Amino acid sequence: MNIQQNIDVLQQKLSPYSCKLIAVSKTYPAETVMAAYVAGQRAFGENKVQEMTSKYEELPKDIEWHQIGHLQRNKVKYIAPFVSLIHSVDSLKLLKEINKEAKKNDRVIDCLFQMHIAKEESKFGLSEEEVLEILNSQEFQEMKHIRITGLMGMATNTDNEQVIRGEFSMLKKLFDTLKTDYKNLLPAFQELSMGMSSDYKIAAEEGSTMVRIGSAIFGKRVYQN
Ligand SMILES: *Cc1c(COP(=O)(O)O)cnc(C)c1O
Repeated sequence: MNIQQNIDVLQQKLSPYSCKLIAVSKTYPAETVMAAYVAGQRAFGENKVQEMTSKYEELPKDIEWHQIGHLQRNKVKYIAPFVSLIHSVDSLKLLKEINKEAKKNDRVIDCLFQMHIAKEESKFGLSEEEVLEILNSQEFQEMKHIRITGLMGMATNTDNEQVIRGEFSMLKKLFDTLKTDYKNLLPAFQELSMGMSSDYKIAAEEGSTMVRIGSAIFGKRVYQN
């Protein structure tokens, strides 16, 4: 795997769009992350708190760490001191915990609502109705240590481009609606995190501002228990 070359190719393909590359480094060792760092990459995505925390400790401190996978409430405290953006907020309870831990660290933590857009049952995420419920709640409106900067979504895992495009386009529409309808409550709403190795091109065309790419940079993942 030539990580430098893979990153260069992706940056070139993304250059017509205002779309930031988040290198998804889950399962890859710190040395591999370092190779991407040397190639100029600074934003990395992880889905396991322990893995992110140990890489954070080991690697240069100007790396931005993005939490991209389901986050358990009892683990928020470990990443609250340093996490750059949490892409996977899927409940008010989780948001309250993030707010609490951010306050302890004297920080405001940026968060995205993860939306359920795929056909698959198993993927985490909120419905439009649930997001509106959160936004309209007094509890949400009183939180001072979180900042909602946008939405995240994962398309159905399929070869059918029309299905993927339809889901991304639906998410972009919701993003635009919320940005307009809740502009006082969501003044920093600007990020749309969508697109992975297999579908980032479609996502960029549909208005993504952040693509989360792992295997197209680092090669096939080998999962261990
Ligand atoms: C693993 C993961 C990715 C990256 O997947 P690739 O197919 O390797 O690009 C993106 N987003 C989330 C939420 C992930 O868990």
